[in-house]
Amino acid sequence: MQLQQSSLFESMFGEGFEEIVFFSDPKTGLKSIVAIHDTTLGPALGGTRIWNYRSEFEALKDVMRLAKAMTLKAAGAGLNLGGGKAVIIGNPEEIKNEYLLRSYGRFIETLGGRFITGEDVGTTLEDIRAMAVETKYVTGVMYDPSPFTAYGVYAGMKACLRHVYGDDSLEGIHVAVQGLGKVGLELAKLLIEDGARLMVTDIDGRRVRECIEIGGKCVEYVEPSRIYSVECDIFSPCALGGVINDSTVKKLNCRIIAGAANNQLESEKHGEMLSRMEILYAPDFIINAGGLITVANEYMHGEINPDILKREIERVGERLEKIFRMSESMLDRSGMPMSTSKAAEMFALQRIERIAGMKRIYIP
Ligand code: NAD
Repeated sequence: MQLQQSSLFESMFGEGFEEIVFFSDPKTGLKSIVAIHDTTLGPALGGTRIWNYRSEFEALKDVMRLAKAMTLKAAGAGLNLGGGKAVIIGNPEEIKNEYLLRSYGRFIETLGGRFITGEDVGTTLEDIRAMAVETKYVTGVMYDPSPFTAYGVYAGMKACLRHVYGDDSLEGIHVAVQGLGKVGLELAKLLIEDGARLMVTDIDGRRVRECIEIGGKCVEYVEPSRIYSVECDIFSPCALGGVINDSTVKKLNCRIIAGAANNQLESEKHGEMLSRMEILYAPDFIINAGGLITVANEYMHGEINPDILKREIERVGERLEKIFRMSESMLDRSGMPMSTSKAAEMFALQRIERIAGMKRIYIP
């Protein structure tokens, strides 16, 4: 994202931002920025990140980048929500306390529901509950979204298998899972139940042992550095962003990439490289939207119905299939089929444009 220190409004125009708000409270030391990117589809939803940024400019750049990504994610997930994000500047270990979080909650309330927030890096469920004393515009206080994210990735993997092999059975399919955290381990359980063979890695040995205890002979451990090159049907990044980059892309030995991690591609160029290598990439913000769909449902209905929610999350698969068809039917600037990551962006933007067009109709 382009952000020039000298011309914030030019950057806001260029990137399509509606509103950026600064909250300051000297009494509690609160320094926060909320970026509301686009509310065509509904109120902006995005987590609150507490991070010790090196500068205020760095915090501003980050909150804008993350807010814009939320617009695409919500639109791509079929939600009637816009994109936004908030950051609180400081080391969470040092600055977090009841007063700061409640002060922040009061400021969120002043936005009157244009922005709804929840957990992110540096914030916990307890923190969101503290904010909720002062504002009703928070969500994700009742359910851990991780198992739902895992379920969406599982549904997305099946769509990828249908697209590549014409059959979505996971029986005997080799999946390399990178990261066995809250999402990765839940995903591994679903895959093991369906008869997949797993190659797994994590820098935390306890996580690996837990997975092997669950899957027995169906699970094999691989060194973290070797996970990219193992021969498999699906590589599933569930740990970090930026894992598809110049050095890893050459090592890949898979037909499909389908995982939960955010921002898996270091740059758009890597999406194009994958499509030239005939590796089907399930765009991260589409396949990992199960958690977002869950917190959005909690906000809208005050509770979730697991059966209805599961069906809604399964639609991740349908959306991916549409995106794969779009990518095959369109060419990029060099005359190659469009990358699935670019097609996913178009898919989300088209929904916003079409709904914006429809909203022109006057309702008396
Ligand atoms: P987590 O912190 O619970 O798990 C991450 C796991 O990755 C940990 O077990 C960690 O030890 C491991 N790990 C870290 N570096 C590694 C490396 N180099 N090699 C192998 N393993 C490594 O996080 P999570 O909630 O499971 O989320 C996983 C990813 O999915 C993150 O990128 C997150 O942003 C994304 N995501 C999560 C959700 C959700 O609902 N939790 C939703 C959308 C996206």
